[in-house]
Amino acid sequence: MNRQSRIDHPQSGIHTTVWILGDQLSHRWPEWLAHAGLGPTNTRLLFIESAAKIRSRPWHKHKLVLVLSAMRHFAQAMRDLGWPVDYRKAATFEAGLRAHIAAHAPARVVVMQPNTWQGRAFVKQLSRAGGHPVAEFLLLDSRFFLAKPEDLGASRSPLMETFYRRMRRRTGYLMDGDQPVGGKWNFDDENRRPPPRAWRASGSPLPIPNLPAFAPDPITREVIAEVAQVASAWGALDGFALPVTREDALKFCADFITHRLPNFGPYEDAMVSGQPVLFHSMLSPLLNIGLLERDELCAMAEQAYREGRAPLNSVEGFIRQLIGWREFVYACYWREMPRLREMNALNATRPLPKFYWDAQTEMACLRACVQGVWERGYTHHIQRLMVLCNFALLAGVSPQEVNEWFFATYVDAYDWVVTPNVVGMGMYGDGGIVGTKPYAASANYIHKMSTYCAGCRYDPKQRLGERACPFNALYWDFVARNADILSANPRAGMPVMALRKMKADEVAALRAQAKHFLDSLA
Ligand SMILES: Cc1cc2nc3c(=O)[nH]c(=O)nc-3n(C[C@H](O)[C@H](O)[C@H](O)COP(=O)(O)OP(=O)(O)OC[C@H]3O[C@@H](n4cnc5c(N)ncnc54)[C@H](O)[C@@H]3O)c2cc1C
Ligand code: SF4
Repeated sequence: MNRQSRIDHPQSGIHTTVWILGDQLSHRWPEWLAHAGLGPTNTRLLFIESAAKIRSRPWHKHKLVLVLSAMRHFAQAMRDLGWPVDYRKAATFEAGLRAHIAAHAPARVVVMQPNTWQGRAFVKQLSRAGGHPVAEFLLLDSRFFLAKPEDLGASRSPLMETFYRRMRRRTGYLMDGDQPVGGKWNFDDENRRPPPRAWRASGSPLPIPNLPAFAPDPITREVIAEVAQVASAWGALDGFALPVTREDALKFCADFITHRLPNFGPYEDAMVSGQPVLFHSMLSPLLNIGLLERDELCAMAEQAYREGRAPLNSVEGFIRQLIGWREFVYACYWREMPRLREMNALNATRPLPKFYWDAQTEMACLRACVQGVWERGYTHHIQRLMVLCNFALLAGVSPQEVNEWFFATYVDAYDWVVTPNVVGMGMYGDGGIVGTKPYAASANYIHKMSTYCAGCRYDPKQRLGERACPFNALYWDFVARNADILSANPRAGMPVMALRKMKADEVAALRAQAKHFLDSLA
């Protein structure tokens, strides 16, 4: 397979096929292809829906609707711009490609590098498989990310903060010359507030804006009817209201900048019952399929700050997620794959508890989060990290099983982002590459940062007994089980010291309580 930026095309007529993948739906394709000398008079665009891919995992129904509807809308938008389009539904991607080649006999097929390791391996294998009557199979460099593995530096455990400052300098966002706007790189000390007391009182009106909803149009309704027939899919099908076109995605984004960005920073880590999105953007599903771009979101956020419409702590926090964390996990992914997927530094082997699929648990925080995932394939970052992953980490669930669950059930999940976040950050399977220490916490964290405990049958303050919150005994059991690994990490050793100061019979009682609870899990 060749990689090149300019494509020679001596013949007249349509001789080149550009195969656009479902997570590459960028409005910039015409511009990118023009650089390669390709346009509507010599190029046909190919889109393939693979039935095998659709049925390959228990994908969330909203994810299937989002990707398929966005692909169909995007293909139509390209037709409207005058591009010849071949839109195929096939048993597999390979079958779709072969059928396209048989029908149109292109001299070459061009693909932009897929964002995932499996995607690249698949395209490589396709191009080598032989039997394709195409002279060339060309690969364009991916345009979707800013960072490369080299940007992580030489350390096995790169620091996100160092990487982030590098990206700030590279992009110029929130910079005054070579100094950060406001004199600081990071305003986290003004963020991470718990939900205010007033929000905890039941029935009190919350100052949280509603998300804009986009009623399904005929194309989306057709996709919804098809997805209803996919027996392997999981999650609710009703209530789908995400944008599926660039135009609506921009409206969704503008709504975030106006109504939620101002409070994004302070309540970034807060979790409130019945408020799955809170002041987060919910832009990841749209960013990850290319409908929106990182740079335009950063520019809009910075403009809101410069015009006095959003405070610096919120805007800096949001930009840090985009050019910091998002790019950082992408770079880690490409540096560590393919072994990253299989890493299991804590030797955790427990199967994923059944309640991750059916929400049948008395733990109110986990029930609310799983129900949220069922309803819309989304929870915000802290629910993913400090509730869903934290529980699995403490319980010793296999990182690979947790990764499979997140991959299938979230609308924004793609291997490049889900695997470093789950196997690395959430489950510490990588032994400290993506995160510097395990994100393990007892009930105290959830009690402080959420409103869940008020409606729970367990008591977050009790460690032993029938009403004791399971997170507490599980936490100390986790620390005892992994004491050697934790004490070797300067950032994770404190809980081990605390455990060693406890009386032996107290530790034994906590571990017995944890065992009893774990034995009861289906
Ligand atoms: C266990 C776990 C699983 C995750 N799985 C995914 C996933 O499948 N897909 C996904 O896009 N993100 C994933 N994340 C990262 C993050 O939780 C989501 O990007 C974020 O919650 C998406 O919601 P939002 O758009 O409202 O984000 P906001 O809080 O509004 O943040 C803005 C944007 O920053 C980016 N971002 C923030 N943190 C991260 C991060 N750690 N990694 C990558 N991008 C980040 C996202 O693009 C997000 O849209 C995961 C995190 C954890 C801990
Ligand atoms: S008491 Fe424990 S299980 Fe219940 S909501 Fe709080 S942290 Fe979750």
